[in-house]
Amino acid sequence: MLEKLSETLKKTTDKIANAIFLDKNLVDSIVKDLQRALIEADVNVSLVLEITQKIKKAALDERIKGIEKKEHIIKLLHDELLNLLGEGRSIELQKSNTFMMLGLYGQGKTTTISKLASYYAKRGSKICAVGLDVHRPAASEQLKQLCDKLNIPAFVDATEKDPKKIWKKYESELKKYNLILVDTAGRDALSEDLIKEIKDIAKLVKPTETFLVMSADVGQAAKKQAQTFKSALDITGVIITKMDSTAKAGGALTACAEVKAPIIFIGTGEKPADLETFDPESFLSRLLGMGDLKALMEKIQSVVNKDDAEKTQQKLKEGKFTLRDLQVQLESMEGLGSMDKIISMIPGLGKAKIPEGALDSQQEKLKKWKHVISSMTQEEVENPEILEKQTSRMQRIAKGSGTNTGDIRALIKQWKMLNDMIKSQSSISEKGMDQKTMMKLAKKYAKKIRM
Ligand code: GDP
Ligand code: MG
Repeated sequence: MLEKLSETLKKTTDKIANAIFLDKNLVDSIVKDLQRALIEADVNVSLVLEITQKIKKAALDERIKGIEKKEHIIKLLHDELLNLLGEGRSIELQKSNTFMMLGLYGQGKTTTISKLASYYAKRGSKICAVGLDVHRPAASEQLKQLCDKLNIPAFVDATEKDPKKIWKKYESELKKYNLILVDTAGRDALSEDLIKEIKDIAKLVKPTETFLVMSADVGQAAKKQAQTFKSALDITGVIITKMDSTAKAGGALTACAEVKAPIIFIGTGEKPADLETFDPESFLSRLLGMGDLKALMEKIQSVVNKDDAEKTQQKLKEGKFTLRDLQVQLESMEGLGSMDKIISMIPGLGKAKIPEGALDSQQEKLKKWKHVISSMTQEEVENPEILEKQTSRMQRIAKGSGTNTGDIRALIKQWKMLNDMIKSQSSISEKGMDQKTMMKLAKKYAKKIRM
């Protein structure tokens, strides 16, 4: 997500922090790097020039000196970028909620419904989805399939061509839910026909939130889209999708801020877990490589099932953390999304030099280990030590899980290590982790990942 911009911003702040003397040459080169990176990320050129002028002026101001000047410039850069991202807005759920998705074709409306369903299901809402996209033949089927996977009811009718009739058909049923996610149809381009349709739907549905869904790769065109939708309907927020698949997300993000359409969520992949609340301040901290403990903790808390966590805790106290427990942990890690996303949220690790590919192989390993554990007998799962003594058991498991004995040995090694680590941490895990412990863990893992 905006890796290149992030890299340049980190380099820039490092350069400023490490400079013994901020002379004109250095300032010029920093400003040039910044301009190039922001423009490559598709931020509006005049905004870029405005910011870099301010930074240049402050840097060359003779009245501010030494460390104070460095701090001043870094703070200025931070504040200007924050300003560029606009103000966030967080959603407070009411007793009953109806979220309506709007947007052109292929922007990610339907996929976002599955992400919102997963996000709010973890927070205890009773959720359903309604399919009012009557334009694309497969639309209702797509929504249903996504919802089925999450065990969320999807009310659709593939034969009905009037979205209002579909709503009315299910209206009384929908009252049983406290969060109704409404999928609507898009068009190739903004058209009067689309505006009329969504206005009609909105009148009937009376959404509590109306979300414009836009893909990050629309770039600065986001401004026009947001403006038009905003003038037609009461847009309460924007969801920017596909943040993972473009280097130019700066365009859409800053364009929304310009027209004061607050971004509420960002989509960072195709899976239900790939949704993050958008908070400009923590988004920026991540770009600047300061890590975002808050976002990580929020995610971890939503994924880790409380009952499982308590059971694990109990087992730890009894000194028994089995491979079965490890399997549960591995599964909850999958729920967090990909490894590199998790890592980028850990302070300190965002900056660590992790060799390319290392994370992929780590994720591959996790997958393999899951297969290995499922191929074990109950006895083996409870006492993995017996495997080390009997290679015939290892060979059987390797065959059954499509792995090799090396993989199994690595798993047992990891399990032992994790066991030690968790034992040493269990005293603090009841209170939750503090920042210092988190940093320690992060460093420890960074070393492990490197091997
Ligand atoms: P809709 O026409 O607005 O309902 O768009 P869809 O939800 O059908 O999404 C269109 C395509 O974009 C699908 O292939 C999705 O899997 C993909 N997609 C949606 N959100 C994201 C995202 O955040 N990241 C990535 N990489 N793909 C996404
Ligand atoms: Mg759709």
